[in-house]
Amino acid sequence: MRDAARELADLQAHDDLVARIYADHLPGEIRELALALAWVRLRDPARHAPDADSSLTRAARLLGCDETGRWRHKLGFAADAPRYEPGREHHLRSGVTCQGPRIRPYRPRGSAPATATASTPPNTALVCGGQATIGVEEHDLATGHIVALHAFCRRHREDADRVLHQIAARGEPLDPPIPNTGGWLPRYFTAKPLERLYRWARPGWARPDAGLCRDDWLTGDVRFLPRHQRLALVVTAEEVPSAPAPLNSHNNARSTPSRS
Ligand SMILES: [Zn+2]
Repeated sequence: MRDAARELADLQAHDDLVARIYADHLPGEIRELALALAWVRLRDPARHAPDADSSLTRAARLLGCDETGRWRHKLGFAADAPRYEPGREHHLRSGVTCQGPRIRPYRPRGSAPATATASTPPNTALVCGGQATIGVEEHDLATGHIVALHAFCRRHREDADRVLHQIAARGEPLDPPIPNTGGWLPRYFTAKPLERLYRWARPGWARPDAGLCRDDWLTGDVRFLPRHQRLALVVTAEEVPSAPAPLNSHNNARSTPSRS
């Protein structure tokens, strides 16, 4: 009777957890991992076996490896490791053009000189437009996030320096920045074992001062949802499965080192 009551409680907890995981719209690989962990902890019939493997080992087996032989659960933890990643638009990549002032006003070929500048849109015609090689990052002081990238070509180095000094005069942005990615799993599972798993899955990762759970970060996209009780995820060091037999070049789940 007691077993039946406990089974029912697990069933309800599993249902509630799965509903929350789907409602949160997690990135695919993290959702897959969260669902597997929910299953092995609350629903998997094998969890009652006296010689049952740890929940992490069973989740690892459930998810298996990707086509290059990397453990999917490890990829999930690596993706969820809380960290800051600047947006693509804040990288100085090819195709980014100089925003320094044009030496002479823009004049479309063949048009009358007197009306040429009036007919061209502002902020596009009066900039240099050359290939940018110098990037000046503008940070939000409170979060340390890059909010703008000011790009300049070599001929506009003085303008770049001027902008750099203007930005520096505002003060020191928070460093390291508050994370803006990952931190989903601590919404559902206790944080302590997760910290070790993040370190294992993403070498070089360091615990952010702002905390592991994305609800605790001072960033624009945080949704302040009611706190739910978190599921204890009992994981010991020995339970972390070793890498599957032949692992080609990619030993780490991700090649991008975390910024620390
Ligand atoms: Zn320029």
